[in-house]
Amino acid sequence: MKQKVKVLNITGWGRSGSTILGSVLGNCRDFFFGGELRNIWKLSLLDNRLCGCGVTVRECDFWKKVFDNGFSGMNKVNVTEILKKLKFTYYSRLALIKLLPFGEKYFKSYALSIPEIEKLFLSVWEVTHCKVIIDTTKSPLWGYLLSLMDNLDVYSIHLIRDPRGIAYSRKKKMLQPDKEKTIYIERFNSFDSSLKWNTRNLLAEYLWKQNKDKYLMIKYEDFARKPKMTVNTILDFISESGASTPFVSAGEVELSVNHSAWGNPSRFKTGRIELKVDDEWKSKLNSFDKLISTVCTFPLLSRYGYK
Ligand SMILES: [Zn+2]
Repeated sequence: MKQKVKVLNITGWGRSGSTILGSVLGNCRDFFFGGELRNIWKLSLLDNRLCGCGVTVRECDFWKKVFDNGFSGMNKVNVTEILKKLKFTYYSRLALIKLLPFGEKYFKSYALSIPEIEKLFLSVWEVTHCKVIIDTTKSPLWGYLLSLMDNLDVYSIHLIRDPRGIAYSRKKKMLQPDKEKTIYIERFNSFDSSLKWNTRNLLAEYLWKQNKDKYLMIKYEDFARKPKMTVNTILDFISESGASTPFVSAGEVELSVNHSAWGNPSRFKTGRIELKVDDEWKSKLNSFDKLISTVCTFPLLSRYGYK
């Protein structure tokens, strides 16, 4: 039987710490951290954004190799066509199609209609010879589609964070390093952020409920408090418990340069990094936003064990 490519997709709502978790996992020996790979077509190939290594993806030797290998060159990729087909994955609520009698069949044929996605993962694997590809595209629908592809063996980490911490982070102006333009990461008010938190988390649970052995729920706060233990749990989950990790102590990692296509600016962090809980929101988020966020995410908030 042909070997499938192992993919670890981190799903959930943005600002949950997926980039730093992805980066730490990607620094395990023979693992590859690709960042948010759904964005490689639009933001990297079309808009020429920066790779995690500091040059644009179009100039990055690593990605040149990947696209030469899988697509006979970056310029041969029909980005417009791919983006047209990918549009569907930006509407999370369409995941509910799975409830219909023909739902699963529909998603399978949809996944197969975008062979470029699988080709990208296969090419990364052929170029890197890695054991696992880490993808931090957090759309639950995207992760589910990956799992329907014949040559990928997909595991899903459902990463949850206190929605009030996310609401605080989502309000902040955050600069995305870029070669040519001043770019800020998309911001959300507490109401919108909370609604999306509900949708993303419920969908992640729903889409993976029939595939429980490939699904693991992790809390950001647990990862940030006990990072080494959490990473070991994840390695067990994907049957890679022997992998060497970048930990230099229980709470510190040594991160090397990566080739993440897109993600939070923390993907550019290298060297020795101390991992700790970011709970600035507890003192800085105003009472109104705290209330909005708490009311809008209840009862899921309580089910996930947040006060
Ligand atoms: Zn690069």
